[in-house]
Parts: sequence; C-alpha cells; structure tokens
Amino acid sequence: MNSVKTKRLNRVLEVKEEHPKKRVGIVPDIEDFRYVKTEAQTSVSTKRVPASSNKSSSPVRLEKKIRVSSVVKVEVAAPENWEAVLEGIKNIRLSGEAPVDTKGCEKAGSLLPPKERRFAVLISTMMSSQTKDEVTHAAVERLGENGLLDPDAIVRTDEATLANLIKPVGFYQRKAQFIKEASRICLERFGGDIPDTLTDLLALKGVGPKMAHLVMSIAWKNTQGICVDTHVHRISNRLGWVFREGTKQKTTTPEQTRMSLEKWLPKDEWEPINPLLVGFGQTICTPLRPKCGSCGINTICPSAFKEASSPNPKQKKRGLGRS
Ligand code: SF4
Repeated sequence: MNSVKTKRLNRVLEVKEEHPKKRVGIVPDIEDFRYVKTEAQTSVSTKRVPASSNKSSSPVRLEKKIRVSSVVKVEVAAPENWEAVLEGIKNIRLSGEAPVDTKGCEKAGSLLPPKERRFAVLISTMMSSQTKDEVTHAAVERLGENGLLDPDAIVRTDEATLANLIKPVGFYQRKAQFIKEASRICLERFGGDIPDTLTDLLALKGVGPKMAHLVMSIAWKNTQGICVDTHVHRISNRLGWVFREGTKQKTTTPEQTRMSLEKWLPKDEWEPINPLLVGFGQTICTPLRPKCGSCGINTICPSAFKEASSPNPKQKKRGLGRS
C-alpha cells in the first residue's frame, strides 16, 4: 500500500515539472491549449488510457491526470506584462475624466435609498445599449423628475409617454416596452425590488449578459462575471488579452471576450475593469482613430499605431508617441 502511494506522489511531481510554462504571466502556445483540453477531457472520463499510449494504464495514472488538469486550469493564459498594461491604463485614467465617470450607470440614482437606487440602476442599464452615457444619464434624470424611477409608477404610465420621456435613447420605443414589462415583473415577483440573480435578470426582456453582470455588480455588489461591453471587447482584443477558445485568434463576440478574460484576470479586477476600460475607450483607445500618439502604453501595446487612422507611426519611432 505504501509503495502505491509513493508511486502516485512521484508521478504527480513528475508531471508538474514537465510543464514549467503553466505559470501566471506566461502566454501559453497552441500546444498548451491542446494539452489542457486533452487532460481536461481525460479528467472527466471514466475510460482507461490505452496501454500503448504510455507504460501503464493503472488507476494510479488516472489519478495523476486529474491532478494535472486542476493545476493547469487555474494557472494558464495570463498574457505577458498584463499587469504593466493595466497599471498604465489606470495611470492614464487618473489624468483625465471620462463620461462614464460622471454619467455612467454606476451613477444612476446614487442619492436614492438602496431599493430605489437598484431600480434606477436596472433602468439605466437597460437604456444604455447603443446609447451614449450622457444621453442615458439625461433620460434617467427625466424619469426621476417625473416620479418614474419606481416600478409601480412606470406600470401605470402608458408606453408612448414613457418612450417620449426617454427619447433620444437608442431604440427608445422598444426599450420603453421592455422597461414597462420589467417593472411589472419587479412588482409581481420581487416585491417592487429588482431580481437578485443572474438567471432572473437574464429572464427580463432586453437584458443580456453584459447588463446582467453590470447590474449584479453595481446594484447588488455581487460581481459574478465581467461586464463586457463594446469598449471592453475592443480594447481587450487590441491589447492581445483575449482569444477564441483553443486558438490565438481574436474573439468575435463580447461573450467570448468575457469568458476569455475571466480565465486569467484576478477576480478583484472584474468589477473595476469595466469602468476603467470604458473610460479609456471613450477618451484614448477610441473605436476609430485611437489616440496612440498620446497613449501612455503605446510602447507595450501590440496594436499601437496599427490601425489605419492612427497618427503617423513615425511619431512612435521618434519617441513622440509617449504621453
Ligand atoms: S497604443 Fe493605441 S491601440 Fe494600444 S491601447 Fe493605446 S490607444 Fe489603444
């Protein structure tokens, strides 16, 4: 019995030493991804490994694989120098205000009691898609001035009046319909409060994963995932922080970006990363014509000066790109 235990321990140690690249801070290559997938599949399978693939197919070997899988899952895929990049972005954001800092959903109903504030955050978030922060903020203010940051009051208001009040929020007519429906559900199922789980938030029409995660973070102080909007999606790809599962290709949807980021970004960064990158995207790393010339991380960003409308790349060579 002692002999079996010793064998098992030796094997676990052997495998850990064979893969020194599985450390935070080292970008894994394609082989690493393939390795993880294979091992993960083995760990949940009850099949025995064919004897031809190794010297032994004993139960001892199966346990070794389960242990390796858990080590790999926790420690892979943090991009090289991500901490320096993140620190650089934080410094840039300290030097100037962005619309999200004063008009974002985080600020909705900030002076209201907790329950009313949660409702204001939900409504603000539902209006925020395809709409500038300033426009959403003004619509929330108008609702407040008309006593409509309250689910009961909204249910008693006709849809056309509601739509006119939130106009020019993007898709304001459709959003007025969704807000009325959400208000009715808040009243009937949640005692006038908003849902407190991702599942119940996602069940509301007009609320997708991005909004649900934001509401959980802001309204309930219960961050369960990263809120990835268009800014977080775009900038994460420009920084080379995210990849489609098992590839080195850019992600193509915010959901892919969220899942890729959550694999390596420390959880205490999950909530602040959204307003951080949103503000960065509103002021410096803009969708069109990113201001690489005045960006403080242009010497470590893999996309610096690569987009057609960026300032002249010669600026970087001459060292004029540093802020
Ligand atoms: S260097 Fe350019 S692309 Fe890179 S983060 Fe800065 S603004 Fe964005």
